[in-house]
Amino acid sequence: MSDILAMTAVAARQALDNKSISAVELTEAYIKAGQDTAENNAYVLTTPDKAIDMAKASDARIAKGDAGLLEGIPIGVKDMFCTKGVETTASSRILKGFVPTYESTVTQNLWQDGAVMLGKINCDEFAMGSANETSAFGAVINPWTASDGPLKGKALTPGGSSGGSAAVMAARSALLAPGTDTGGSIRQPAAFCGLVGLKPTYGRCSRLGIVAFASSLDQAGPITRDVADCALMMTSMASYDKGDSTSIDAPMPDLMAALTKAKNEGVKGMRIGIPDEYTIDGMPEQIVTLWEQGRQWLEDAGATCVPVSLPHTKYALPAYYIIAPAEASSNLARYDGVRYGQRVDGATLDEMYAKTRGAGFGDEVKRRILIGTYVLSAGYYDAYYIKAQKIRRLIQNDFHQVFSGVDALLTPSTPSAAFALGEEDKDPVSMFLNDVFTVPANLAGIPAISVPAGLSSDGLPLGLQLIAPALREDTLIEGAAMLEKAAGFNHVASGAAS
Ligand code: GLN
Repeated sequence: MSDILAMTAVAARQALDNKSISAVELTEAYIKAGQDTAENNAYVLTTPDKAIDMAKASDARIAKGDAGLLEGIPIGVKDMFCTKGVETTASSRILKGFVPTYESTVTQNLWQDGAVMLGKINCDEFAMGSANETSAFGAVINPWTASDGPLKGKALTPGGSSGGSAAVMAARSALLAPGTDTGGSIRQPAAFCGLVGLKPTYGRCSRLGIVAFASSLDQAGPITRDVADCALMMTSMASYDKGDSTSIDAPMPDLMAALTKAKNEGVKGMRIGIPDEYTIDGMPEQIVTLWEQGRQWLEDAGATCVPVSLPHTKYALPAYYIIAPAEASSNLARYDGVRYGQRVDGATLDEMYAKTRGAGFGDEVKRRILIGTYVLSAGYYDAYYIKAQKIRRLIQNDFHQVFSGVDALLTPSTPSAAFALGEEDKDPVSMFLNDVFTVPANLAGIPAISVPAGLSSDGLPLGLQLIAPALREDTLIEGAAMLEKAAGFNHVASGAAS
């Protein structure tokens, strides 16, 4: 592994500022790393000329002493973010050829802070999935491979929907990667690829210019190698935006200060809840052991851990799989062959709509549209959609109640390590179970982070999740920094670029 690719974003920022490397050198190394790891199928489009131009502009600003927070840092952008002048597909055939005339607010924030765009990254189609297998561009391969056991020698999923983003981070073919998380799509891939993934409070990052999946749940957030990079990137991504009616006008706590505090003081005085209901049937022993280990690490660093109860947790997954498809069916109505991307001609307007949507959407997206229109139909609205919304409120109330007694909650990030590609795609319900620990935070709109905490018996990364009250991303950074230090996780995947 070349030293240049081994640097975290924070380390690269220092190296750029003290001129031991240039932004062009760093960018060239990442462009090459992308080429060297192309078999992962993580980039759907690369923009090397644009990257070099942006890196040159970064070098000029650094020379003038005018560097931004992410000056010169090469980034891979999940194809859910609209990028002005660069094709944006949400990994769907229906958006093939769609070139946005505008930039998403989140990516605009990153460019404004000096980041360099390497290209667009594969994901599940419209971010629907947990294995990055629903993409029109084909599956993404996890750079991690099993060292032992039945998975040895098999191509593994990087998780989903931000599977490509996690894969480029683990393969070291991007230095930072923004993801989107509607039910776990930042945290689950981060856990499967040995990375840090943060879903911020709903409204922290503007949704303007992000392809909509389920608008009341969608949030953008960082996928990074370590907690310090996460704090840095989150600071850049978040902003109040009048263009998103649900954007929050509240200052982000100083996340770099939270990091320093954790380094100096540990998590002394922090109260951590261990929710009873996150112990699920059939959970592998090694996940239970890791969770217990995490509790011990936090206590050793000065926290007090207490059991808590979130009684409605078991309804979170069913409620999510009603609300998310309902919103998706409405959001996806706009892809009609007139306004965006692909069109398949028909004899009548209705036939053109039907043929365009029939050819343009993949099976998982069609399944969600069918479920969504069904639960919103006049006969079933009260029985399904309204009931799911009531459950959502109960889940929010559960969190509200426990946060009167604890600062954060500790849970596993996922019920398993990465699985083999093609293993679960025949059974949509078993795929849905991947989200069992991540979905509640989206329903409640509260922030949650996944931190790499250890390896499974066959050498694959496992993550621990911390969940905090709304607007307390600083608590997550403090706790995550502590877990990271205790776990001493080695971040280099076997298939990383060298
Ligand atoms: N796996 C979940 C789903 O398919 C979550 C996806 C996401 O967070 N975008 O809905």
